[in-house]
Amino acid sequence: MNAQHTKTSRRRFLKNLGAGALAAALAGTHHAAHAAAEPVVSGWGILIDLTRCTGCESCVLACKQANRRPTPDQVPTQLCSEAYSFLDAHTVLNADGNLETQKVKRQCMHCLQPACVAACTVGALRRQSNGAVTYDASKCFGCRYCQYACPFGIPTYDWDNPLGLIHKCEMCAHRLEEGQLPACVGACPNGAIRFGPRAALIAQAHAQIASNPFRYVDHVYGEHEVGGTSVLYLSAVPFQALGFPMLGDTPIAGDANQIMERTPLIAAGVAAIATSLYWLTKRHHELATRRAAIEPDQPPATTRRAESQGETKA
Ligand code: SF4
Ligand code: SF4
Ligand code: SF4
Repeated sequence: MNAQHTKTSRRRFLKNLGAGALAAALAGTHHAAHAAAEPVVSGWGILIDLTRCTGCESCVLACKQANRRPTPDQVPTQLCSEAYSFLDAHTVLNADGNLETQKVKRQCMHCLQPACVAACTVGALRRQSNGAVTYDASKCFGCRYCQYACPFGIPTYDWDNPLGLIHKCEMCAHRLEEGQLPACVGACPNGAIRFGPRAALIAQAHAQIASNPFRYVDHVYGEHEVGGTSVLYLSAVPFQALGFPMLGDTPIAGDANQIMERTPLIAAGVAAIATSLYWLTKRHHELATRRAAIEPDQPPATTRRAESQGETKA
């Protein structure tokens, strides 16, 4: 990252921080209430048939490439700023009574009524009418409320970035805009990931269960959980055995709204602390730079101390 870019990022950070704190303090309640009032449109969906997944990792590598993540050839082992999707491994008992490993592709579930959207006081997360829950880094001020609110533990925070931002799958929104499939869908060589209107995928999933009752458990995960998600799963074993959270049908967004209605000032407090830390770090850096400019040939303080101790002993 060059110096100009760093300066621009900092300016943007501060601008957003100021705007974010103000928005959190004054308008957070309004945004949360507004998000809850928006009508739910079903939109696109992604159906993942776990019985077809061989764990080849093509989908997660394609995801990294499509989203220009660093280390595009390295298989991800968790959700992080470098990977918006990964394969989670679970040992399960198959229909023959043998133990086997089942890989589960994890990414944002694109909830119909997303708790992350309700929790975000500055509108950095939005559910689009096509079903994708997208993120706008220019609005985010790093409070991480979305992380706490998400029932699936999806948004990740980039701790290595001094400006720390949120990362998550956006259903390849940039590709959808260009009429392309999400990268993971197109990459699966086994047809385990399908894309289409959510309602059609649900009908398809139930038809598959009805015609193959020994292949699938009678449950389309995501059809009803937390009010429904745009990412849906079919499985041969109960979802609980694969680490899926057992959630009710009620959207969590309502709870997040209630919390945000009570806590807009906390968001402002977080922003204020972040500002103070930023300025303290900046001031420390400036003083160190100035000192180094005045005493360019001086060795570091610890070396000087060691040298003077040596002189005294001699
Ligand atoms: S899974 Fe989590 S991050 Fe994704 S839309 Fe739902 S609440 Fe938001
Ligand atoms: S939809 Fe796009 S961002 Fe999301 S998991 Fe698939 S490839 Fe990754
Ligand atoms: S590309 Fe298809 S088969 Fe390979 S890991 Fe992903 S979902 Fe499974």
